[in-house]
Amino acid sequence: MQLFMKPAYLTHLSTAEAAIRATGERLTQPRVAVLACLLASERATSHLDVAGMLVDHHAVDRVTVYRVLEWLVNQGISHRIAGDDRVWRFMINPQQTSAKSAAHGHHAHFTCETCGQTFCLNKTIPKVDVKLPKGFRPFEIDLLVRGCCAACS
Ligand SMILES: [Zn+2]
Ligand SMILES: [Zn+2]
Repeated sequence: MQLFMKPAYLTHLSTAEAAIRATGERLTQPRVAVLACLLASERATSHLDVAGMLVDHHAVDRVTVYRVLEWLVNQGISHRIAGDDRVWRFMINPQQTSAKSAAHGHHAHFTCETCGQTFCLNKTIPKVDVKLPKGFRPFEIDLLVRGCCAACS
C-alpha cells in the first residue's frame, strides 16, 4: 500500500542517520534506509515489506535488508517477533535513546487476528513470574495480546 504514495520513510532518513552514528558503527546507505523504514512504520514489518518500501528510492537487495535488520537488533535499535506465519517482523525499540537497555525492555505486543498486523504496546509490563521445572532456564517471556485492531474494529 505504501507503493502508491511517496514513501513515508524518506522523512526519517536524517533521524536514522543520527541513530546509526550514535552506535559508533559504520554508516552505510542500506543501514540508514532500512532503519528509516522501521522508524516510519507503526506496525511490525517483515524484511520483504522493508525491501518493498525501498524499491523506488534505494535499491537494497533482500539479503542486505535482512542482514541490516539483524544488525539493528544486535545494536539494540530494533527488536523482532515471529508472527503466526513464522516470519520475523521487526520494530523499532520504544525508547530508542537508551539503546542497549531498551533491547531487552519488556513490552507486550498486539496481533490483530483480522488483518494479521502486529503492533508494539509501548507501556512496559510488570515482570511476569512463571514457575519453571527444575533445570529450565528462561531467556525471555513474550506477552502477546490477540484481538482486533482499531482499523479492523
Ligand atoms: Zn487489524
Ligand atoms: Zn515490540
